[in-house]
Amino acid sequence: MVERIQAKLQAPMTLKGHTMFTSASIGIALSHPNYQRGQDILRDADNAMYRAKAKGQSNYEIFDPEMHAVALRLLKLETDLRQAIADQTFCLRYQPIIELASRQLMGFEALVRWQHPNYGLVTPDQFIPLAEETGLIMPLSEWILQAACEQMSHWYQKMALTYPLKISVNIAAGQFQNALFVEKLDQALAQTQLPATSLKLEVTESVLLENVDAVLSTLSQLKQRQIEISLDDFGTGYSSLSYLKQFPIDTLKIDKSFVDSLERDGDASLVQAIIQIANSLKMTVVAEGVETPTQQAWLQKLGCGAIQGYLISPPLDVAAAEHFMRTFS
Ligand code: C2E
Ligand code: MG
Ligand code: MG
Repeated sequence: MVERIQAKLQAPMTLKGHTMFTSASIGIALSHPNYQRGQDILRDADNAMYRAKAKGQSNYEIFDPEMHAVALRLLKLETDLRQAIADQTFCLRYQPIIELASRQLMGFEALVRWQHPNYGLVTPDQFIPLAEETGLIMPLSEWILQAACEQMSHWYQKMALTYPLKISVNIAAGQFQNALFVEKLDQALAQTQLPATSLKLEVTESVLLENVDAVLSTLSQLKQRQIEISLDDFGTGYSSLSYLKQFPIDTLKIDKSFVDSLERDGDASLVQAIIQIANSLKMTVVAEGVETPTQQAWLQKLGCGAIQGYLISPPLDVAAAEHFMRTFS
């Protein structure tokens, strides 16, 4: 029956002379003696409908009790996340980025963690998407940016750094698209007294392609401030080469999956291609997730500028990062 409904809905219609298409995601809850109230069946059908939506256009899904359990867990996580933002129970880890030729420390990437009362240290993959979905990404991102700038500024004073270090901060899609983004950034820099040139922002390809005119305007404001931009997970997204030339990007970050294939398949073609693209567009390159000396040797041979990964160091807490700065050479 659902398929028949969908087929009817998919037929084109004419609205004021324009041909329009529509599609429907359908959730199904089957009647069961356990249901006491109509609203519970609707809730479950709604749940299944969101599941169907998540699969893409014009799908349908039949409710099963596991979906309700997942929804409850998500709701609990969302409540916890709200609380965590109020209590600021987040912390940052710092992963070193090393220039390959000179073996010099170039800076750190700030990576957020959530200190959850029951689950311990939760990694961002488990809560950034939820934060994006619920709008909690704005207050969370503000905290991250502020905390990362503050730490770097503090290190400049405390560590008596004789060479320039940059702090790289990951920027979420919802954060970059926000009209107040640059203003918040200026505030964070002013409050922490970190020079703009010590800050680098990491964005993904999908962030850049969302609303190209607005993105170009934001990027040019960042350029005016001499804030550098890295393109994170490069090659895993939409990969339209024409936009690469259009956007003022400073660094391509080669995704771990390409670094892995160097050793696993002995295949350097993609890494080599990315490095060549970067060179011809006058961008620098950082390889991510470098775990073995063999991968490092490959990258060096291919002319990769910088690396980051467990081979050099995992993400570190503040004390360990300070130890790293004092001892790495
Ligand atoms: P990313 O920006 O590409 O960060 C690299 C991820 O790879 C980090 O995971 C890092 O811990 C991990 N990694 C680094 N070296 C190695 C290695 O040698 N081997 C392996 N297997 N993994 C390595 P993490 O910290 O779990 O972060 C995952 C993703 O979450 C990040 O990917 C980034 O997209 C996002 N994220 C992290 N922190 C933030 C943040 O503060 N704000 C936003 N918006 N997103 C963040
Ligand atoms: Mg990153
Ligand atoms: Mg990455």
